[in-house]
Amino acid sequence: MTTTEVINPATEKVVATVELVDAAGTDAAIERAQRAAKDWREVAPGDRARILRRFAEAIDANLEELAQLEVANAGHTIGNARWEAGNARDVLHFAAGMPERLLGNQIPVAGGVDITFHEPLGVVGVIVPWNFPMPIAAWGFAPALAAGNAVVLKPAELTPLTAIRLGELALQAGLPEYVFQVLPGKGSVVGQRFVTHPGVRKVVFTGSTEVGKQIMAGCADQVKRVTLELGGKSANIVFADADLERAAATAPYGVFDNAGQDCCARSRILVQRSVFDRFLELLEPAVQGVRVGDPAADATEMGPLISAAHRDRVAGFLEPSTKVAFTGAMPEGPGFWYPPTVVLPDAPTDRVLTEEIFGPVVAVLPFDDEADAVRIANDTEYGLSGSIWTNDVGRALRVSRGVEAGNLSVNSHSSVRYWTPFGGYKQSGLGRELGPDAALAFTETKNVFIATQ
Ligand code: NAD
Repeated sequence: MTTTEVINPATEKVVATVELVDAAGTDAAIERAQRAAKDWREVAPGDRARILRRFAEAIDANLEELAQLEVANAGHTIGNARWEAGNARDVLHFAAGMPERLLGNQIPVAGGVDITFHEPLGVVGVIVPWNFPMPIAAWGFAPALAAGNAVVLKPAELTPLTAIRLGELALQAGLPEYVFQVLPGKGSVVGQRFVTHPGVRKVVFTGSTEVGKQIMAGCADQVKRVTLELGGKSANIVFADADLERAAATAPYGVFDNAGQDCCARSRILVQRSVFDRFLELLEPAVQGVRVGDPAADATEMGPLISAAHRDRVAGFLEPSTKVAFTGAMPEGPGFWYPPTVVLPDAPTDRVLTEEIFGPVVAVLPFDDEADAVRIANDTEYGLSGSIWTNDVGRALRVSRGVEAGNLSVNSHSSVRYWTPFGGYKQSGLGRELGPDAALAFTETKNVFIATQ
């Protein structure tokens, strides 16, 4: 049995040793899930709903423990980690409303009755990255379970602890055995088996665009259903007519939250040229005011990066020639720290502008007018989220419609609500999670015609 050591990124100390599932173990779990799925789909909608509600309540009862686990495993600030556990709970409560609302249609036809059914797929494989282990897991497993599927879930190698605990809580809450199995393991072993095993009927993958493309190509072989939530390089567009103080005060939190390890990070700030210098003057104290340090402390706003290797990768984006406008604070001592960093790119081809850094680095650049802002915002293969700061409601709507991204916010930086749809344009993803239609992504629509003559 292979094991992996889970490291606390703020202290570099080992917090747990986890056994990794191998290929044979994955196959056995998928086969158990196939059997469990047959019974789970027959559970009455109201009973399925009740079990999911109990699962949500079990998370709520253990919220602090889950949050502390995430602080130790992922270095998330305790405030964020509590929100994340609460989000998993809320997503389950929301999903618990779905089994009784998977409504089909009755379609007018001659000579009979035509009705549609939304039927479960069978076994769904959910592959989770390390940046938001609890929410991203729940966005996949909760609606999949609600629709009557069994779920096998693979957490990221670096962050398996909360997923393992969620698996235990599901069982305690009364979810039948093998309906929800958590399989810690390697992407190239467990994740890959979700793609190639014919018993898995859909893969929900959240992670890098590079691996997402391989998953999609692999799924094509069996015409396997796939949802992809991939990378981002989102724009925060600040117009001269905006509340500049608020735009500058909030911009650091739009990109440095979770130390920038956020697919929705607004890592390009586009500022109208007439207020560019003033905005930078306002941004500097805001960036320096971000409280970076011990993630377990209540007041901390930014913790460490996930690993030493990831910190080196982030640092590698800054060349000796990169213009750094200013940086924020960073603690001394052990931990994979990197300070909030504001850079001024030289050219549209700079890597800091074109690639997802996935760390606390933001590029600020000027634009001339509305058309120029939309052109620059769209000058990327990504299209996940973005913000627009303006006091002109017409412009807010025009630019919102113009930016090619799935999740936009005006005069705010919020991207995620469990009852609104979430997902990417272009190479940021395929399909949508959350929102009122979340369960439909885990069903096939069946049409039945019944002759009455
Ligand atoms: P990653 O692509 O390296 O890994 C993601 C998951 O896929 C992990 O569980 C990994 O073990 C698994 N995996 C790796 N290779 C695999 C393979 N060949 N087959 C099957 N599974 C495999 O990504 P990461 O570094 O963990 O996460 C960071 C990335 O995730 C960033 O690009 C970020 O933007 C993206 N992300 C996107 C969203 C979104 O909703 N759009 C949300 C969070 C993170």
